[in-house]
Amino acid sequence: MTATAAARTILTRLHELMASRLHAQGKLNQVVDIIGDSLDSEVCSIYLLREGMLELFATRGLNQSAVHVTRLGIGEGLTGTIAQNTETLNLAEAATHPEFQYVPETGEEKFHSFAGVPIVRRERAIGVLTVQHVEPRRYVEVEIEALQTVAMVLAELITNAGLVDEETLSGRSAAQVGQEVLTGLQLVKGLGCGQAVFHQPRIVIEQTVADDTEAERHRVYQAFDRMREQIDQMATHAEFGVGEEHWHVLETYKMFAYDEGWSRRINEAIDAGLTAEAAIERVQQRTRQRMREIRDPLLAERMHDLEDLANRLLRIVSGQLGTAARTGLRQDTILIAKNLGPAELLEYDKRRLKGVVLEEGSLTAHVVIVARAMGVPVIGRVRNARALMRDGDQLLLDGDRAQVIIRPGTAALETFEARLARSREKQAAYAAQRDVEPFSRDGQRIEVMMNAGLVEDTPMLGLTGADGIGLFRTEFQFMVADTLPSRDRQTRLYRDVLEGAGHRPVIFRTVDIGGDKVLPYLRGAERGAAEENPAMGWRALRLALERDGLLKVQARALLEAAAGRSLQVMFPMVSEPWEFDAARALFEQQIAHFKRHRRRLPDEIQYGVMLEVPALAEMLDTLLPRLSFISIGTNDLTQFLFAADRSDPRLAERYDWLSPTILRFLQRVVATVRGSPVRLGVCGEMGGRRLEALALLALGIRRLSITPAAVGPIKELVRRVDLAEAGAAMQGWLAAPPPDLRGVIARWAEERGIEVD
Ligand code: PEP
Ligand code: MG
Repeated sequence: MTATAAARTILTRLHELMASRLHAQGKLNQVVDIIGDSLDSEVCSIYLLREGMLELFATRGLNQSAVHVTRLGIGEGLTGTIAQNTETLNLAEAATHPEFQYVPETGEEKFHSFAGVPIVRRERAIGVLTVQHVEPRRYVEVEIEALQTVAMVLAELITNAGLVDEETLSGRSAAQVGQEVLTGLQLVKGLGCGQAVFHQPRIVIEQTVADDTEAERHRVYQAFDRMREQIDQMATHAEFGVGEEHWHVLETYKMFAYDEGWSRRINEAIDAGLTAEAAIERVQQRTRQRMREIRDPLLAERMHDLEDLANRLLRIVSGQLGTAARTGLRQDTILIAKNLGPAELLEYDKRRLKGVVLEEGSLTAHVVIVARAMGVPVIGRVRNARALMRDGDQLLLDGDRAQVIIRPGTAALETFEARLARSREKQAAYAAQRDVEPFSRDGQRIEVMMNAGLVEDTPMLGLTGADGIGLFRTEFQFMVADTLPSRDRQTRLYRDVLEGAGHRPVIFRTVDIGGDKVLPYLRGAERGAAEENPAMGWRALRLALERDGLLKVQARALLEAAAGRSLQVMFPMVSEPWEFDAARALFEQQIAHFKRHRRRLPDEIQYGVMLEVPALAEMLDTLLPRLSFISIGTNDLTQFLFAADRSDPRLAERYDWLSPTILRFLQRVVATVRGSPVRLGVCGEMGGRRLEALALLALGIRRLSITPAAVGPIKELVRRVDLAEAGAAMQGWLAAPPPDLRGVIARWAEERGIEVD
């Protein structure tokens, strides 16, 4: 008999049984008979999880007196092992397995062969289905597959019959699974606790046995068509993830999406009588099992992609398409995702979002910058996070130590709460000092400004005591909108920001889209990520100068918003001086237009550039006379200096901001600007870290624009440093760089009692 036929025979009988009016226990008694008959098995038993123990609920072949008496712990004996690992066991001689444990009251001693499959609901075992034989023989694949299919149906029957309690179903029984700690890469510091929510929610299958097989087949065909369409479009839409490595992923996706073997197996599962959803999941379970047996790391990576695709197919077929943001967060949440786009993150409710765990991610990826701006701790590069956590798990996210504690025990919870309290105290101490001006020990006033991107950020000026907004990322507004923001809407935002800032200066950076900042409503190449190398592609000012409609509208909105005040405009990604001149000329044209129409203009307009493309540094001296300020964007600068994609997780830890390469580069820029009235600052993430900020101050940087959460700590740092002494030390280090410059600077700080962590 084929696997399909075997499963179909059982499923047809189970289907009738499920619809019958028999009570739950009666149904289970019949199930073991049906399976025993169909597989010609001497023993068939069902164990269900009750109060954290696997209880024998029904059996054919073992002593009936053992029913509701035999109870095994998770991990205890073969049955407990199957539940613990949610893995199938197939043994010709049960007693040879290291976990074998003899249960006397069942009378099972005469049975030699043993096979068992987990009964899984929401990725947890809620029971185990076993068969046993007197003859020592391994069950053939057809039988195992039939058992696995039946286990899926059983999961539905058991849930509907209310045979396992809510606690078991939601998997929150403490006895079942204990605390686990996963480590990743620190992306945004901070502590957060909440429930795990998957950005792409997992689908819970409600019906496993089909009423109409042909209808299910049709649904799956349609879903496949739709999925293939989506994958084909991904190359142009970049809906999925960021960066070039996704080309590779896309290729793998395509390979799977068009793989006939996959669709054939799903079709076979439908033939066996399953619904479309159950068939997809069934095939996925089988693939998971095979991959586990192979244990090849390369295949494991592929498995991830196939999982993603199977989930996508499931979402399409079940019509559950949105991300968790669409359904809204109901309680304090730690979001779990493979990767996220910055716009996707902004869709979440800031009040409920307490942290993010990514399987990928790197320090300067825009999603991380957005998270930092939102004050949400993030850890990245947590391998297999989505496989190891479950929806609803309680999580403690420790951004400082790059750890996430899953299902914490009491001790972990207490320690975490104590740290949270300490961290709040520290924040309160910084807040108390917010009006103390950041003068260095040798009396130099450092400007400590903050980065922002949304109007909601402006109150942070008052709360942190920042000197102003040194970088307002205007593209955030474009990223959160569903359609291109109109001029009126832009004007309103800029005016609100200026009003919110009061007397403090605001530097508006013109829109920096492209790269990984994809705007879903833009078409074609403006979307940017269709390029093979978007970070070095047609982005920011390059795009804005060519499709100048966008920049013209923005210029008018800025001029209007700042009427009667001071306006500071900064252009991103300037590579050559002419680009600055062209952008400024565009503003001048709009000013002329305003004058012609006698419209009120800003009292004063200052222009500046971001120095983030190394090429500009070579020509900076020629541009200086036309500039009011320069802001060094170390995020992009580093990626271009080292030719290392800032969003590629594999490069996340490779290049150090405290390497002599970067510091010498910055030293030259400082030297070029010295003596001119142009204000030089740094607005990359580097400036928000205490040790890095110390290095920047030692290099002669006197203005930092950083994430709001870092303003307090950096102001405090400034007050501890003697800049003349630090400057002299830095000169020495860069003249003959020691091998571990980071370590040397840290020790220097430590010797002077300057905390740098
Ligand atoms: C930078 O590149 O350092 C920067 C501040 O800009 P963004 O991170 O927005 O690209
Ligand atoms: Mg940049």
